[in-house]
Amino acid sequence: MQPASTPYNVVAVTLSIGIDSFSIFMSTLYFRRKSRRPRRRATFLATLFVLSALLLAFRPLPAKLLARTTPQQITAVRPELEAALVRQIKTVDAQLVKAQEAISVNSAIPAQFQGQILPKIDLQSGEKVVALTFDDGPWTHTPEVLDILKKFDIKATFFVIGRHIAAHQEALKRVVKEGHAVGNHTWNHHYHNVSAQTAAAELGQTANLVKEVTGVETVMFRPPGGNLTNGLVNYATGQNYFVAMWSVDSRDYTRTTVAAMTERVLRDAHSGAIVLMHDGGGNRAATVEALPQIIGQLQKQGYRFVTVPELLELKARESKPKINPSQG
Ligand SMILES: [Zn+2]
Repeated sequence: MQPASTPYNVVAVTLSIGIDSFSIFMSTLYFRRKSRRPRRRATFLATLFVLSALLLAFRPLPAKLLARTTPQQITAVRPELEAALVRQIKTVDAQLVKAQEAISVNSAIPAQFQGQILPKIDLQSGEKVVALTFDDGPWTHTPEVLDILKKFDIKATFFVIGRHIAAHQEALKRVVKEGHAVGNHTWNHHYHNVSAQTAAAELGQTANLVKEVTGVETVMFRPPGGNLTNGLVNYATGQNYFVAMWSVDSRDYTRTTVAAMTERVLRDAHSGAIVLMHDGGGNRAATVEALPQIIGQLQKQGYRFVTVPELLELKARESKPKINPSQG
């Protein structure tokens, strides 16, 4: 690009020449005859000279300003813009996939287990998998538990109480965001017998709030205190919930020690174990303290950690008839 040939240059130079010629012409006139107001005219002429000088000095400026966004330059940055756009789209896609995974982690209960109560899951394969479960949250200890799970890069399952959600919404959001599964643990944690109407409210209100806060539709239920006969489980199975019991009890809700808790879980762990622990409903400092040891020791023994829906998926695969390709 040649700045001299731009129309702005031509205009500026022409204008400047015009102004200068005019001023010179005027000044010869002034000097020839005596002016009546010489100072005023001199100021006027000086202004014209300054103006023409400014015009000449800054004549490349408009061209420069315009040159910033020439079509050539737009073409030059186009690949960059396109790449940036593609990156943006990919990021959004990845976030979407993650969100979908989080939802599928929480909603995928194999059909054969919907509306069922499974007191214990034993994997025929003997595969060393364990599902850690945390009840009675969300609570002040939930973020601490989440931090530990994150550090070990493992997933768990949280059975939440509806009336605890409002005060700990962020913790519940984090549970889902970080890929853990969520189950329903009623609104009020009743142990006593309840009517069908109360049961519907206990589960329904909790499910609605979990959905509202996290977008997840809970499809698992854990009865408070493991009570199978007070009307809650009846309602839950009728609603196709999978009723998740446990096969290993940390007994962290009793006055136990960190060492005893850890020892108990390690002693009872087995292939397909569901471990009962608590992140809410009281002071869970002992659980938080024992957790890294429990995870670390189980990992040393070769266990890997899954959510309850993932565990059910593994179990469901075992019960499918095996196809032997060599027999056609
Ligand atoms: Zn509970």
